[in-house]
Amino acid sequence: MDEAPRQALHDQLVESREALRQLLIGGAESAERVEIDNSCQSQLSRVEAQQGREMARALRARWERELGRVEGALRRMENDEYGDCFVCGEPIPFRRLQSDASVTRCVECAESE
Ligand SMILES: [Zn+2]
Repeated sequence: MDEAPRQALHDQLVESREALRQLLIGGAESAERVEIDNSCQSQLSRVEAQQGREMARALRARWERELGRVEGALRRMENDEYGDCFVCGEPIPFRRLQSDASVTRCVECAESE
């Protein structure tokens, strides 16, 4: 891959990493707030707090997975292994990487899964 598109994807990945880190930090704070709300007496608000915690947990798990993917892509860039499909080894088209810089499979391999 040429230097310029590679750099653009790198910047995109660094940006996503920072955004996800911020979300994860913010998510931890709002989960704590829910914890405090849970101490009030009303049954309904306890249920709501429980649901809120579960949603926050699911969201957090998704962000963590995404962060893992983004960090993996950045690592592959450093090792000069970036941009090839994990399955068939062919270069992943730039347009596909542009829409999601952390993808690890070309369209064909992703669809045949
Ligand atoms: Zn492939």
